[in-house]
Amino acid sequence: MADFKQSNKLHNVLYDIRGPLLEHAKYMEAEGHRILKLNIGNPAPFGFEAPDAILVDMIRHLPNAQGYSDSRGIFSARTAVVQYYQGRGIQNIDVDDVYLGNGVSELITLSLQALLNNGEEVLVPTPDYPLWTASVSLAGGTAVHYLCDESNSWWPDVEDIESKITPQTRGIVLINPNNPTGAVYPRSVIKQIVDLARRHDLIIFADEIYEKILYDDAVHVNAASVTGDDVLCLTFSGLSKAYRIAGFRSGWMAISGPKHRAADYIEGINLLANMRLCANVPAQHAIQTALGGYQSINDLILPGGRLRQQRDKAHELLNAIPGVSCELAQGALYLFPRLDPEVYPIKSDEQFALDLLKQQKILISHGTAFNWTNPDHFRMVTLPSVEDIEDAIGRLAEFLSTYKP
Ligand code: PLP
Repeated sequence: MADFKQSNKLHNVLYDIRGPLLEHAKYMEAEGHRILKLNIGNPAPFGFEAPDAILVDMIRHLPNAQGYSDSRGIFSARTAVVQYYQGRGIQNIDVDDVYLGNGVSELITLSLQALLNNGEEVLVPTPDYPLWTASVSLAGGTAVHYLCDESNSWWPDVEDIESKITPQTRGIVLINPNNPTGAVYPRSVIKQIVDLARRHDLIIFADEIYEKILYDDAVHVNAASVTGDDVLCLTFSGLSKAYRIAGFRSGWMAISGPKHRAADYIEGINLLANMRLCANVPAQHAIQTALGGYQSINDLILPGGRLRQQRDKAHELLNAIPGVSCELAQGALYLFPRLDPEVYPIKSDEQFALDLLKQQKILISHGTAFNWTNPDHFRMVTLPSVEDIEDAIGRLAEFLSTYKP
């Protein structure tokens, strides 16, 4: 009898942030080792707590949250999202243009499933948050990677994007602030990309889940405030990061631009939204309170704030290691350092990360997991305390001082 095999649809689908390295770390933990996990952008295990108001409001609403909701989501939360975006200069979003999901993740997958025919292309950044590439592949499409340029603050290379547009291209993904690089894109770059979308009739997919996690003088520009009435834009954001409730699974997607031209696509989105019935209802109740309440994230990112201090310390210590260089993240929760290939001629960065895990008990994510081509980068989260960051980067430096790839 033949074995039970996975679907061919999964052959090009990769999500290595939770891949074999994490499995190995769990195995080591089961053996009694303490692993410093620098691999997943999940604030709660690092001692970041949700604002009380959100928890209180969710508990208060629990008795009313027992049934399914409308498949787009509860009205009050969708209205709160509309108001929020209106305040950010996005005028053409109506309450029915907002879909709530079990995190942004579900909506990313759903929006691409509804759009793509086999072989159609979506321009996705490299490095990227790999769910985008994986979701394009799962939907039968082809992710075509455009370069984000490390020598230019990790901003998208607009010429590279343009050179990769073909008759098969349907859209451009913008992850801003970016995971894994921490880059925040200036209005001028977003405008150039939107102009490309306008000229080639492409959809902008704007993943802005880190829009409130900004450092120094960084300013976030919502792509939908630039796309206006003539470029279709799907904006994704949610509560996992800025409100530290990744486990509640609460996110949204908002459609703006020429919706009349997208009626058929939107019908497809509605079908898939109906098929998954609705997002987790108690977590939908958190949205209005989160968006309308005290924005405690600001206390964490301003000078003296915990996230800011941790980013600064990690950046300083990484750059002090010979052969390691790292851009200063302007947003989000990560650093994406470079390992100079002249100093560390690494052939497999996954093996590098595995060796580091085994020897020093720290878990990072290898750069190629983010669809970065060369094995010369890795990602670490800046969520651990300054003490743990010092400990982890100290161990990394010790490891690198004798590392022979
Ligand atoms: N988009 C980006 C850029 C992310 O980094 C993440 C999570 O790390 C997500 C989306 C998924 O977020 P959610 O928890 O809302 O599913």
